[in-house]
Amino acid sequence: MKNKINIFWFRRDLRINDNKGLAAALSSGIPVLPVFIYDTEILNGLPDKHDRRVHYISQAISAMDAELKKYHSGIHTFYSNVTDAFEKLMARYDIEAVYCNRDYEPGAIKRDARVKKILQEQGIVLNDYKDQVIFEQSEIVKENGSPYTVYTPYAKKWRNTLSEADTKPYDINFANFYKSNENAVYNLKDIGFLYTDYMYKKPVLDAGIIKQYHQYRDYPALQHTTQLGTALRFGTISIRKCVRFALSHNEVWLSELIWREFFMQILFHFPQVVTQSFKPQYDFIPWRNNEAEFEIWCEGKTGYPIVDAGMRQLNQTGYMHNRVRMIVASFLCKHLLIDWRWGETYFAQKLNDYDLSANNGNWQWAAGCGCDAAPYFRIFNPTTQTHKFDKELLYIKQWNPEFETRLEQPIVIHDVARKRTLATYKKALMQPY
Ligand code: FAD
Repeated sequence: MKNKINIFWFRRDLRINDNKGLAAALSSGIPVLPVFIYDTEILNGLPDKHDRRVHYISQAISAMDAELKKYHSGIHTFYSNVTDAFEKLMARYDIEAVYCNRDYEPGAIKRDARVKKILQEQGIVLNDYKDQVIFEQSEIVKENGSPYTVYTPYAKKWRNTLSEADTKPYDINFANFYKSNENAVYNLKDIGFLYTDYMYKKPVLDAGIIKQYHQYRDYPALQHTTQLGTALRFGTISIRKCVRFALSHNEVWLSELIWREFFMQILFHFPQVVTQSFKPQYDFIPWRNNEAEFEIWCEGKTGYPIVDAGMRQLNQTGYMHNRVRMIVASFLCKHLLIDWRWGETYFAQKLNDYDLSANNGNWQWAAGCGCDAAPYFRIFNPTTQTHKFDKELLYIKQWNPEFETRLEQPIVIHDVARKRTLATYKKALMQPY
């Protein structure tokens, strides 16, 4: 006789507190088997086996597993494609329903539709919930029902729509987990990955940082942002908890959380942005795409100290301060006239907090081709940016300490590059579309 269970499938929500789909599963009256799938379709696409994100996930899974052990339960992990994992689960258990939280990326939407069909064929329902955002899909749209493509009115409507109920936490009933001691979580080596220097810590909201966020967030040497990007990406922290904290501590930090949702809904409504410029006219730009220059940018050897410091911080740690992300991205697209998609791909490989919607949205913003983007003629001057945001050169000295003694000449002269960009963009944008 197979045991009757419900399944909760963890994906971008690796926490056992305030988790909407998990709370719903646990109140269903049937014991809940918690499952995580190391999806080979994703993992096989990661070229570097020292991947901090995979290491982070594995540590988060182990932490949840340890917590569940106290309740005589545990996470059941699989290392396969999702279809095979569910075939195994269906063979082993009598499954009433599978619960999960919604994921809005185009690839995930297709995957979930596939899983839903397989389950349906066996009479099993897939129940999905909104958890990783406050507002999803078409909840914040214009009066005529069309999606916002400009941040400010989107954020205004988001704020006006928000009520206390939207940030209410969901309680977890620990008594209803499926009790078994037969689970064993895969460790990193089992799935072909290696340990990194990236240590999972239970994410905390630091009132000291968040209260002064608006004053110091732009100065990269101060490290005065929350560094919660990875936790938000993998759901080790609840967005509802973050928004409640933002509401009582800092409006400016709240606006960053709204940017996150803004780009998520852009990706949901305009999935073509994954490969195309949001403003199609910008796909006429004849990018120079010089491979040697791209390599120099990746390695942080452009001769522009702030750009090189940023790229070195990214290469060494998987993190880069937001102000510097904007400077290096602008430099790649505007100074070197290299396609924003090359930079986007490089960031996707390196960033611990990599998120398709945020990365794509911000790269398109930097290149000028996105929704609500910086106008193309606004070209960051790395030297002026340094004077404004790293006057004492503290950030540069930390990540690019030998910048004064290195012999490299700047890869391009700012004024020359600026003129070249303006002429190139102008010509492309004048083409009939
Ligand atoms: P905080 O400044 O403390 O902000 C809190 C949270 O708000 C962030 O963790 C993030 O979830 C969200 N947030 C803040 N700014 C933005 C923004 N501009 N767009 C969307 N969400 C935002 N952010 C990512 O999460 N993933 C990415 O892959 C990513 N790629 C980027 C690429 C470029 C070229 C640029 C310019 C920015 C990118 N960002 C990305 C946005 C931003 O740089 C990071 O969210 C931020 O630096 C993370 O640091 P933090 O956690 O200390 O954020």
